[in-house]
Amino acid sequence: MEKALIVIDYTCDFVADDGTLTCGDPGQNIESNITSLTKSFLAQEEYVVFAVDVHEEGDPYHPETHLFPPHNIRGTHGRTLYGGLQEIYESNSSSPHVLHIDKTRYSAFSGTQLDLKLRERGITELHLTGVCTDICILHTAVEAYNLGYNIVVHKNAVASFNQTGHEWALEHFENVLGATVK
Ligand code: ZN
Repeated sequence: MEKALIVIDYTCDFVADDGTLTCGDPGQNIESNITSLTKSFLAQEEYVVFAVDVHEEGDPYHPETHLFPPHNIRGTHGRTLYGGLQEIYESNSSSPHVLHIDKTRYSAFSGTQLDLKLRERGITELHLTGVCTDICILHTAVEAYNLGYNIVVHKNAVASFNQTGHEWALEHFENVLGATVK
């Protein structure tokens, strides 16, 4: 079974202390787990996708404009990957096994080429990591389920600012989406 690692929204704005929409400690605590999973997938020449939220500054039409403070604005430091992950991405960015996609909605599939890229490679199993467990990981998992992918959620490599939401989502992945949560 071909598999891919999907690293969702692990950016400075969502994770760092000075991020504009940060998860804080829970987000920072998963850094080493995300980087080691990423290194492991790359070492095995398996597909690694960095799915990264992007916003245009001052966009009055985007639905999140009314919900959240500005975050992940295109071209800003806040949109770079957090911690060691940015370096790993930069040193592997030309690899055919690495994809960096802009996403503009919670789900990494919404309005992106992700499904096509996965199907080109015969990938049927998605390993989800990043933030937030109960927002972008959840919406990506729901769409992956609807598209027929097998889902693995690494519970030590996902996090949220909302611990109750995090725990609810982990149960939902397992009990409703049939995911393996490990
Ligand atoms: Zn956003």
